[in-house]
Amino acid sequence: MSIFSSSDKERLAKYVIDLYKKFIPVKALAPEFGGEGEAERAKVLEEELRSLGLKPKRFDAPDKRVREGVRPNILAVLEGEDPSKILWIVGHMDVVPEGDISLWKHPPYQVTVEGDYIYGRGVEDDGQAIVIALALAKHLIEKNIKPRINLGIALVSDEEVGSKYGLLYLLEKKAFEGHGKNYFLIPDAGSPDGSKMIVAEKHILHFKVLVKGKQAHASTPHLGLNAHRLGMKFNLALDELLHEKFSEYDDLYEPPVTTCEPTKKETNVENLNTIPGTDTVYWDCRILPKYSISSVKDIIKTFSYNFSSSSGAEVSVEFLGEDDAGKPTDPQDPFVKGFSKAIKETRGVEVKPIGIGGGTVARYLRKRGYPAIVWMTCDDTAHQPNEYTKLSYVISDIETVFYYLTKLA
Ligand SMILES: [Zn+2]
Repeated sequence: MSIFSSSDKERLAKYVIDLYKKFIPVKALAPEFGGEGEAERAKVLEEELRSLGLKPKRFDAPDKRVREGVRPNILAVLEGEDPSKILWIVGHMDVVPEGDISLWKHPPYQVTVEGDYIYGRGVEDDGQAIVIALALAKHLIEKNIKPRINLGIALVSDEEVGSKYGLLYLLEKKAFEGHGKNYFLIPDAGSPDGSKMIVAEKHILHFKVLVKGKQAHASTPHLGLNAHRLGMKFNLALDELLHEKFSEYDDLYEPPVTTCEPTKKETNVENLNTIPGTDTVYWDCRILPKYSISSVKDIIKTFSYNFSSSSGAEVSVEFLGEDDAGKPTDPQDPFVKGFSKAIKETRGVEVKPIGIGGGTVARYLRKRGYPAIVWMTCDDTAHQPNEYTKLSYVISDIETVFYYLTKLA
C-alpha cells in the first residue's frame, strides 16, 4: 500500500539524501575508537531539528576523554492530538570505524548514491534511524498533520560502546518523563521485507579463562606443565558442558539456542620450542532469558574449580561483563499490536516477532518496563565495509511509522 503520493516520495527522497550528506561526513567515533565523540555531528543535527521548527533539548553526559568534554544527547518532541502517549524514535549518532579502507569501493565518510543504493559508514547503523525520524517530522510539519500521539525524537551517543553516556544517561536523568506514556521504536536492525520485529534479546556474559602451568623447554616437558594443552582441554570440555547444561530451544530467538563461543586467544610464547606457562582464552555467551546469568556463572566456576583440582594447573575465570536482557516486550501491548498492524497493512507481510543475541539500547528500556521494538528495513550491512541502505527502504519505513502515527496510534 502506498501512503505517500509520488511527489511526496520525491520530496522525501531528496531530503533524506541531503540530510545524509550533512551528517555522515561529520565523524562521530567514541574515544574508545580514537575519536572525539558525537559533539560535531550533534551540532549539525540539532541545527537541523531547529530548522524544522522543533525545540531540541540537550542532555550532555560529561566525558573528559573528548575535546568538547561531553557526549551529547538530543531530544525533541512534536505534539500530537493525544498528549498522554508518546512514540520515541531512538537513533544513535555514533558509528564504528570504517575498518580496512581498501575494502570500500566508495569513500566511507562521503555519501555515494548509486540508483537505489546509498553507501557510507553509518548510513544504516544508525543514520537510517536519524533520517527516518527527521524526515517523518518534516513531512508532518510541512503538511500540517498532527500525529495521533506525541512523536519524540531521541538522538543518542555511545551506543556502540555501551550507552553509558547515551541512553543510560538519559534514563538516569529521567529525560523521557513528562510527555505521556512512553513507547519506543529503535530502528537499528531489521530485515529486507520489514517483517522482522525484534521484541527480545538474550543475556550477555563475557569472561576470560586463564590457565597457569609451568614454562619449560619443549624437549623436556616433564619439567613443565603445558598450559596450552590444558587450556585446550579445559575450554573444549567447558564448551561441551555449557551446551549440554543450557540446551533449551526457543524459536522466538534467532538463533533459537543459548550460544557460548570461545573467541579471542592471547599470544602465549614467541618461539615454538617453549612449553607455554600460560594460556588465555576469551568467551562470549548469549544466554536465553529463561536461564539466569548467575546459573551459567555457577557452572563455569564449579567446573574450573574441579578442573584445577584434578589437573594440577591453576585455572582462573574472570567475568569481564554481564548484561541482563530484561523481560521481552509483551506482544499484547497496545503499541506492539498497533505497530504490527501498521507493518502488515503498509507492507503486506506477516509480522515476525523475534529475539536476537545482539545487544541494542532496547534492553535498557525493557528492563525499565517500557515497550520497545527494534525494527527497520535493511540488508544488515552494519559494521561491514561498503555499508549501505536503500532509499526505497528508508521511504517505506517513514511511510509505516507515519501510517501508525496518523491511523493506528
Ligand atoms: Zn547500531
